[in-house]
Amino acid sequence: MTDEEAQAGLLSIVKQRGPLSVADYMALCLTHPQFGYYRRRDAIGAGGDFITAPEISQTFGELIGIWCAAVWQGMGRPTEFRIVELGPGRGTLMRDLLRALHVLPECLKSVRVELMEISEALAKTQAATLGDWAAQLRWSTTLEASDAPTIIIANEFLDALPIRQLSSRSGGWVERCVADDGLGGLMFVDGPPASLPKAWPAKLPASDGLIVEVRTGIKDLCDAFARQSKHAPLAALFIDYGHTTPGYGDTLQAVHKHAYASPFANPGLADLTAQVDFTAFAHAATGTGLRTSAPLSQAEFLGGLGIIERTARLTRDASARQRAGIEAGVARLISPDAMGTRFKVIGLASSGVDLPILSLPR
Ligand code: SAH
Repeated sequence: MTDEEAQAGLLSIVKQRGPLSVADYMALCLTHPQFGYYRRRDAIGAGGDFITAPEISQTFGELIGIWCAAVWQGMGRPTEFRIVELGPGRGTLMRDLLRALHVLPECLKSVRVELMEISEALAKTQAATLGDWAAQLRWSTTLEASDAPTIIIANEFLDALPIRQLSSRSGGWVERCVADDGLGGLMFVDGPPASLPKAWPAKLPASDGLIVEVRTGIKDLCDAFARQSKHAPLAALFIDYGHTTPGYGDTLQAVHKHAYASPFANPGLADLTAQVDFTAFAHAATGTGLRTSAPLSQAEFLGGLGIIERTARLTRDASARQRAGIEAGVARLISPDAMGTRFKVIGLASSGVDLPILSLPR
């Protein structure tokens, strides 16, 4: 199928079924079985649409591996445990993570890895990236319950989960929807009346023209974690771009070939994401009985795990050219005008589990 056919397929679905809520539009564009962006494309990396931390520097996956090893130690070194990665992209983070676990052979021997991925194209790339490891891994499309202590990791996964947008109108809220504009394209329209979720963490005045985003899927995800935590100890690590103050406005964005575009410009051909509202996420997780850490900036988290020391080690025997490349990648991950503060880290834990670097309520 060509890109044009996929795009035409998505447009005709919106025309037939629309107006669609922003969440349904996002889910359609990203995950439609035939036409969806993630189903068809391997879009991550320098040659794709966007680049992520593990693709920028190997230190990212390595340090997350060290974090997992420390969680495993804190869990009492179980002889069997799982690391489940949600939305593993090209498999690069997991490859670097597993390489880092070589320093603790006992940990490496005890781990079972699961990759939760809906994209067949990316699952193939993951298998290729993971090489010899691939034979021992499991792929799934949902989080399956297990009796093994479980560590969940997810980088840039939450931002791809669909959001609803609610618009304020005359003191109330309506669903923001996407419809045919009659000119061959799409436009936003007001949909049916809607209300803020009961458990919304902040009171927001409904003066006209505000947009509030509500991430669908988070409740199901947190419920799945809570169920898992009844079977065995659970720790989870989420890294994403976003904000810690709810009520932020319209953050829906499309990225195509490393450039921002209108969310309507290239349905199915552009990545559609929206900022993660960390307060709402923490609220949903806490509501299921999990403990939730305060969010930390990516720079603080990676700094705490020793990114500077790791970089010094990597550059020690490197040529001047290699060294410049390694240092530029690390700078991009931690500097405040790149990803250092825009990206945040939050951890969830079942009772009795400690999260290194992150601080949990006692
Ligand atoms: N973690 C990777 C990729 C981030 S892109 C990295 O840091 O490079 C988002 C990833 O989540 C992709 O692998 C995409 O296919 C996957 N994904 C998106 N929605 C998903 C869903 N509902 N279930 C499982 N995987 C999903």
